[in-house]
Amino acid sequence: MIDRYSRQIIFPQLGKEGQGRLGNSSVVIIGCGALGGIIATYLVRAGVGKVKIVDRDLIEYHNLHRQILFDEEDVKNKLPKAIAAEQHLKKANSSIEIEGVVADVHYANVERLITGVDLILDGLDNPETRFIINDASLKHKIPWVYGAAIAASGMTMNIIPGETPCFRCVFPSLPPPGVIPNCDTAGVISPAPFVVGSLQSAEAIKILVGAKEINRDVIVIDVWQGTFHRLKVSPRRDCPTCQGKYEFLQRQFGIRTTVLCGQNSVQILDPKIESLSLKELALHLKPLGKVSYNKLILNFTVDNHEMVVFPDGRLILKNSLDESLARELYVKYIGT
Ligand SMILES: [Zn+2]
Repeated sequence: MIDRYSRQIIFPQLGKEGQGRLGNSSVVIIGCGALGGIIATYLVRAGVGKVKIVDRDLIEYHNLHRQILFDEEDVKNKLPKAIAAEQHLKKANSSIEIEGVVADVHYANVERLITGVDLILDGLDNPETRFIINDASLKHKIPWVYGAAIAASGMTMNIIPGETPCFRCVFPSLPPPGVIPNCDTAGVISPAPFVVGSLQSAEAIKILVGAKEINRDVIVIDVWQGTFHRLKVSPRRDCPTCQGKYEFLQRQFGIRTTVLCGQNSVQILDPKIESLSLKELALHLKPLGKVSYNKLILNFTVDNHEMVVFPDGRLILKNSLDESLARELYVKYIGT
């Protein structure tokens, strides 16, 4: 294995000792689009011992311009991103453990998903889940690396519990829906997430090997303007998370609808459901419409409504942004 990593071991700040630490490390990457795909690629190839990749989405054609882990075959095979990522990355490095988990991260499963990891990496496309991760990170004293990219710009920051300001020190509250631009409204060009994902990966390696030079600022980049800025941040005295109030972990909700960024789809999630038998559901739905399934997903079409159901109980209504229709179909066909 030394030969595989020889060129990074020569880099003195890493060395043999650093390589050993990477090999003994475990990380979870939450979200595997453009950012998460880059981070997963680097950390798997760098020899991080255990890499868990969590993502809720399927791969679509409009992902391919920036999500380098995936190809046209994956779109045709209707693969969840977490599973395709696991398959591709195992070919890049078979000497480490790689696990793809198809799930939407929420208050009820986040603590289970981060159990035992040394570092959490943010590859998300929505702000709300970041507040949940921030709460879980501080509660369990596991550092996380925030990253976000949109249009031609992006930013990243390290949150080391007890050492740096937390995410909520910098972003005190959840922005109202529709205020933050997303891939649908502002677009994105691939160099932006690639630069941010690269910076996150470098910070991950530094944190895992225990380097002194870890970043304590917010870094803001713009690949169109060619700019790179550091913003100093300080802890906020009235930050609830830093005072041990984990409001986003306690903010329990019932059935939840989410419009998925860039997919013309609505997701329905019931956090009470831990797992669902797709085989039993297929038997139940067969008399009602067109059903096909494998162990990863179930496709169901009825009255021109196309739905995908996952074993974690989530339903995605395709080609629609109608949240009340999605909720209605969920209650009717999945039931709770
Ligand atoms: Zn804080």
